[in-house]
Amino acid sequence: MKNYHIGTKCVQAGYTPKNGEPRQVPIIQSTTFKYDTSEEMGKLFDLEASGYFYTRLQNPTNDYVAAKIAALEGGSAAMLTSSGQAANFFALFNICECGDHIVASSSIYGGTYNLIAVTMKKMGIDVTFVSPDADEAELNAAFQENTKAMFGETIANPALTVLDIELFARVAHAHNVPLIVDNTFPTPVNCRPIEWGADIVTHSTTKYMDGHGAAVGGAIVDAGRFDWMAHADKFPGLCTPDDSYHGIIYAEKFGKEGAFITKCTVQLMRDLGSIPSPNSAFLLNLGLESLHVRMPKHVENGQAVAEFLEAHPKVAYVNYPGLASSKYHERAKKYLPKGGCGVVSFGLKGGREAASTFMKNLKLGAIETHVADARTCCLNPATSTHRQLTDEQLIEAGVPAELIRISLGIEDKEDLIADIANALDSIE
Ligand SMILES: *Cc1c(COP(=O)(O)O)cnc(C)c1O
Repeated sequence: MKNYHIGTKCVQAGYTPKNGEPRQVPIIQSTTFKYDTSEEMGKLFDLEASGYFYTRLQNPTNDYVAAKIAALEGGSAAMLTSSGQAANFFALFNICECGDHIVASSSIYGGTYNLIAVTMKKMGIDVTFVSPDADEAELNAAFQENTKAMFGETIANPALTVLDIELFARVAHAHNVPLIVDNTFPTPVNCRPIEWGADIVTHSTTKYMDGHGAAVGGAIVDAGRFDWMAHADKFPGLCTPDDSYHGIIYAEKFGKEGAFITKCTVQLMRDLGSIPSPNSAFLLNLGLESLHVRMPKHVENGQAVAEFLEAHPKVAYVNYPGLASSKYHERAKKYLPKGGCGVVSFGLKGGREAASTFMKNLKLGAIETHVADARTCCLNPATSTHRQLTDEQLIEAGVPAELIRISLGIEDKEDLIADIANALDSIE
């Protein structure tokens, strides 16, 4: 599959049926797997052999779909999680423990901000947030002796800032830590962070990958390039014996290509248990099969609506990296040559009140705590996803109180623009 184009991988990577086997990914809706002898099963428990014994650790359906996502991102291994939140938590917690520190872009999804700033802090993991626009010296200054990871989003939800992946990767590597990039919004169809130096890529597959609002899910992909053993003092979890598996050392036994995902599966999934149902993985795979067909349509609609809004007298500002006026336009041209995504955010001159009137009067665009779906939807983050943040934090996260996020689906753009024009007309 390696040499095929991205669309072919969307359709066929991950699962190749043998003679007489089902053409579609089979749903192995079974919690457990049968063995003839306990010795055989014991080998699986000791990680001496690979195979299935309990779905909390691994399931064939989930693995087929994870393998497809690994192929799409150009990674060496991947795993599915029950949500994007679980994916980001697992990716970080796999290498950070109490007493450690993370450097993260401040311009990230509200749920991830909360996860890192509040919940992981309670676990003793500290964070320094940096601006996505920080220069190399400012980024370097955020690092400490105990920093174990750097984190950012390719295109931030909902601020739509674009990450300078090459710069962040260079700085992370100068401090001997991996760069973790949440690539939910562009999807591997529009950007593959590993090609720009990222070490770990995460996804909320709930968004474009599923694309139909059917199943919450997440994924973690390892590039397989980070040399854990070269920095063994920083990553004891990967580089010292794990007593729960008879003292195996992940980085030794599974190498650069397999250590991260294996440890994440056999420790974190074993203990925390955030697996997707095989049925949900099947639905995710249906979405992936058309990802390369849907993304260009989302981009086309996003671009058209962003241009329409920018020219409208009731609109104060529009954030969309595809606009020539965007601060991130140059960066977007570099990292997102095919366009970014179908999400546009904007502020109305009438503030919070105008936002509420506008949203009420949309007919095609539904008010939803959701984004990146085949159907157009919209949201005011300050009163929903980001409501735990103060006004100051909202500005820092790039989502001022009046901001509306509209996620353009794959309907016809003429109808979407007419609907938006009508809702704008309804504002006094
Ligand atoms: C939605 C989202 C998440 C969280 O994913 P869930 O699947 O809702 O848990 C994380 N990161 C980004 C960029 C998101 O858009």
